[in-house]
Amino acid sequence: SSKVLPKPRWLKAKPADSENYHRLRNTVRELGLATVCEEARCPNIGECWGGGEDETATATIMIMGDTCTRGCRFCSVKTSRAPPPLDPDEPEKVSEAIAKWGLDYVVLTSVDRDDLEDQGSNHFRQVVQKLKEKKPDLLVEALTPDFQGNQELIHAVATSGLDVFAHNMETVERLTPMVRDHRAKYQQSLGVLKYVKTVSNCLTKTSLMLGLGETEEDIMKTLQDLRAVDVDVVTFGQYLQPTKRHLPVKHYVTPEEFESWQEKAEAMGFKYVASGPLVRSSYKAGEFFLKNYLK
Ligand code: SF4
Ligand code: SF4
Repeated sequence: SSKVLPKPRWLKAKPADSENYHRLRNTVRELGLATVCEEARCPNIGECWGGGEDETATATIMIMGDTCTRGCRFCSVKTSRAPPPLDPDEPEKVSEAIAKWGLDYVVLTSVDRDDLEDQGSNHFRQVVQKLKEKKPDLLVEALTPDFQGNQELIHAVATSGLDVFAHNMETVERLTPMVRDHRAKYQQSLGVLKYVKTVSNCLTKTSLMLGLGETEEDIMKTLQDLRAVDVDVVTFGQYLQPTKRHLPVKHYVTPEEFESWQEKAEAMGFKYVASGPLVRSSYKAGEFFLKNYLK
């Protein structure tokens, strides 16, 4: 059955009204950037774009088009076996626009492009390289596909000059076949994170959605697996069903339970943990980085 649970009160977004937020909002369309923050109507946009107390503005930019070759059951991105070709001018255009936009920390993310020979890895690399040329002090995180576990392709991104390599596990091992596209595999994703550490100095990061039916043991096992491959950063957030055709929410995790995962993960040695009902992979990512690495 797909009974729809009522949404608890703690899932209300905070209003977005700071000066920084309005400044970024006013220029994003002129620059032609596609932000996940706006397109996914992310509830954290006020905090991320506003920059919070230390004014570190973070945003997530989508590259390589809006159509994915995969179809994960939690994700509302469009799917096609043969999406339009990549725009060869995108690395130049998008890096120029981001450099002008006035962010402190940018998360670059993409759809999966299993249709392309290099799965888009060199395109991803170019965007990071051009960004670092144009604005060397901008902190860059790449939230990447699994590249089907192909080390050469992962290498191209991991050594592009980025600061944080993120790849999302999304869920625990037991639920992976039900939640993610069949080409995405739990061990393969772990392998991506493990390999990155062997070829670069970037921090590694991953995110888990809770509320899909995972048990405490499932989550503990996942955290142990992540620590075993030296993952630095983990985030936990509530899974929310994007449309009726997507996986239903199995349970709403309370703020107290999120707090408890935060403590457990910190005690296991992750360098940084963000955990809360509305936390998304990129939630105020810049704040963490500046606090921990640049002061
Ligand atoms: Fe969505 Fe990523 Fe899955 Fe594609 S691979 S359907 S963008 S979660
Ligand atoms: Fe954008 Fe990510 Fe922040 Fe949401 S959490 S507003 S997607 S940077």
